Amino acid sequence: MFELKSTIRNVPDFPKKGIGFKDITTLLKEPKSFRQSVMALCDPFREITLDAIVGIESRGFIFGGAMAVEMEIGFIPIRKPGKLPAETEREEYTLEYGTDAVEIHKDAVQEGMHILIVDDLLATGGTAAAAVRLVQKLGGVVEGAAFLIELSFINGRKKLGDIPIHVLVEYDSE
Ligand code: AMP
Repeated sequence: MFELKSTIRNVPDFPKKGIGFKDITTLLKEPKSFRQSVMALCDPFREITLDAIVGIESRGFIFGGAMAVEMEIGFIPIRKPGKLPAETEREEYTLEYGTDAVEIHKDAVQEGMHILIVDDLLATGGTAAAAVRLVQKLGGVVEGAAFLIELSFINGRKKLGDIPIHVLVEYDSE
């Protein structure tokens, strides 16, 4: 999807030296690009049974929320620790230095629910893999994971095992 890629801004050395930050705000403000990306993210999953989209804070809320409306299914947020008000389940994951964690409401996913996980970008796969574990802990079945962007040179998809992955824009270098 060449046109979509041209609407994503690469910001070098943000938030720290050596990182090429993929800024999607430039895509979101173009109505055609935003709509095209939401529709294309939904496409491979239109024919399968899904009960809800699980979106990862914070840019996963933007795409996941729009996809849930388009697919007429529910939306469930996964958030950074301490943000969700009711009882939560937590999963930690390793960063370059230290660990981070994500949380989900314990009653958000019921046993056997068919779930699609959504985020804006797949890098190391640590966040998405933690999201998969959270959904599975609650008894949900992860049917797939959709990302606007994949940094394929990092190969984070290996952390997601055999879960079907759908990506619209790929970068093979910073
Ligand atoms: P990871 O857990 O390494 O796959 O990182 C994925 C999360 O970090 C996503 O929620 C992204 O929004 C964010 N992220 C990681 N690397 C970048 C990047 N180069 N540009 C923009 N966002 C990034």
